[in-house]
Amino acid sequence: MRTALITGGSRGIGAQCVRAFAQAGYRVAFFYLSSEEKARALGKETGAYAIRCDVRDPAQVRAACGQALELLRHIDALVNNAGVAQQKLLCDITDEDWRTMLDTHLSGAFYVTREVLSGMISQRDGRIVNISSIWGQVGASCEAHYSAAKAGLIGLTRALAKEAGPSGVTVNCLCPGVIETDMLSSFTPEDLAALREETPLGRLGTPEDVARAALWLCGGEASFITGQVLGVGGGFGE
Ligand code: NAP
Repeated sequence: MRTALITGGSRGIGAQCVRAFAQAGYRVAFFYLSSEEKARALGKETGAYAIRCDVRDPAQVRAACGQALELLRHIDALVNNAGVAQQKLLCDITDEDWRTMLDTHLSGAFYVTREVLSGMISQRDGRIVNISSIWGQVGASCEAHYSAAKAGLIGLTRALAKEAGPSGVTVNCLCPGVIETDMLSSFTPEDLAALREETPLGRLGTPEDVARAALWLCGGEASFITGQVLGVGGGFGE
């Protein structure tokens, strides 16, 4: 049976990835940070294993990946999805804001990948999907730290695809546009209407839109695709 590890699986895009991979027959483990109840409920709903792990902390990541490996025996697919958002002018971004953003999105993906990759290389088979953002490609005003972290994730994807390809591991990146999750909770209905209007396909994205793309990248049909950066945004921002 194929297996998947998904970070930030308690809510939004990550939770939908948990559902999609479980429905496709994967045994799934996922990391969450503070949404304990949601994580437990999702575990019950899907049969996936919920593991508490702050991806910013390499020691927690090591222990949690060990736990995931014990439960799953091996890991075929990794989705680095955990993330946080914040809107601030660059001059108002504190050292802590900057560290939180870079540590969650970029260092977190590095720490988890570092733990999982050697197993994938040994089995000469593995799929890694990093969830970046359209803002990692084109940059967003008042989100310099978020955009920088997401651009870093694109660099990590492209570099690791070259390094791990000869070992049978593919590494790709998804760049969602505007997706309806808690991450948009600070937007007003007017903001959301404007974003919908700016999206060529005329609607906001859903977590299902992104989860389907992640599942596809981890499946047989995408076996010759690596180092790619794929937009899932209905054309938004491009
Ligand atoms: P969300 O609904 O706010 O969910 C974020 C998830 O990340 C939660 O499960 C949260 O866990 C987890 N998380 C946050 N910090 C963590 C940490 N330090 N360690 C472990 N888990 C942590 O966000 P989303 O919209 O689904 O976003 C998922 C990914 O897509 C993010 O990387 C985001 O940047 C990217 N993205 C989103 C959009 C969008 O429009 N929504 C667009 C482009 C890219 P807890 O709740 O348990 O704390």
